[in-house]
Amino acid sequence: GRRLWRCAVKCRKCGGTAVLNMRQHKLALCGAHYLEWLPEQVERFIEKYRMFTRQEKVLVAVSGGKDSLGLWDILHGLGYRTEGLYIGLGIAQDYSDESRRLSEQFAAERGLTLHVVDIAQRFGATIPELAVISNRGHGKPCSVCGLNKRYIMNRAALEGGFDALATGHNLDDEVAVLMQNTFNWAGGYLARQAPVLAASSGLTRKVKPLCRIYEREMTAYCLVRGIAYIYEECPHAEGSTTIYYKEILNKMEEDRPGAKLQFYLSFLQAKEQGLFAGVEHQADLHPCQRCGQPTSAPGECSFCRLWDKVQLVKRTVAAQAEAAP
Ligand code: SF4
Ligand code: ZN
Ligand code: ZN
Repeated sequence: GRRLWRCAVKCRKCGGTAVLNMRQHKLALCGAHYLEWLPEQVERFIEKYRMFTRQEKVLVAVSGGKDSLGLWDILHGLGYRTEGLYIGLGIAQDYSDESRRLSEQFAAERGLTLHVVDIAQRFGATIPELAVISNRGHGKPCSVCGLNKRYIMNRAALEGGFDALATGHNLDDEVAVLMQNTFNWAGGYLARQAPVLAASSGLTRKVKPLCRIYEREMTAYCLVRGIAYIYEECPHAEGSTTIYYKEILNKMEEDRPGAKLQFYLSFLQAKEQGLFAGVEHQADLHPCQRCGQPTSAPGECSFCRLWDKVQLVKRTVAAQAEAAP
């Protein structure tokens, strides 16, 4: 008769019940073997792309999400020297509060050091306020948010004497950006998209140890490992082009398991063979006149100019309020 049941997928290593079937790798594993396998993969890629060594100090940028906390857990477990950096963006009260709480809890449970930079406390405005005041990106906060994050991460890494700055970008993130840049034939961006960006004139080395790890592999890791992370994405991510490309790529992956990884690896290979050699150019960087951080703009860097503008607007508003009868 008809088979009404389906065989549970078995772990390739021990025959136990698999928690994750990775069709893209033709591999299914049980919880225990998965928790061994994933960090081994990450370590392989750290070594393959020469991201950092066990002697070097790594600053891990954490947001409270699965990728960054999962990454920090893996690096710590592998015996790398890590500290964390959490940037308080002041986005939608409970989103920011909860992501900070989970990041702090994660660090405390493991006795790890977490540096916290709260943008509103330190500089005087939250990211949404900043977006409105500066009128950059027509009030959408992502452009000022990115600018602030990049600046604060680089400065924290340099001032803290870290050899590398690690972010939790996973394969799905990288491939979505790759697809977007390919559709735009954005040669400059394509030339700079890589697992490792070497340090240069005041810019710290940037590494993405999860660049070959699928998003669902990170979700599974955090669930099996019992890491408490924030499930919600930033509310401003909704409707973004990245999410749109991710959805398309997920459809392709469904029909052709491994499509995303294939696309990414072929890109890296093409790059290695010099496909973007002509486009690659080093921006002319020099220290900002005010803060000393590297910038390609003449005089002050865009971070300093942005916050100058905020101060000016705030002073004007305050003066107007005082002058009002
Ligand atoms: Fe910042 Fe949220 Fe935009 Fe990401 S989606 S850049 S966290 S405002
Ligand atoms: Zn097993
Ligand atoms: Zn500056």
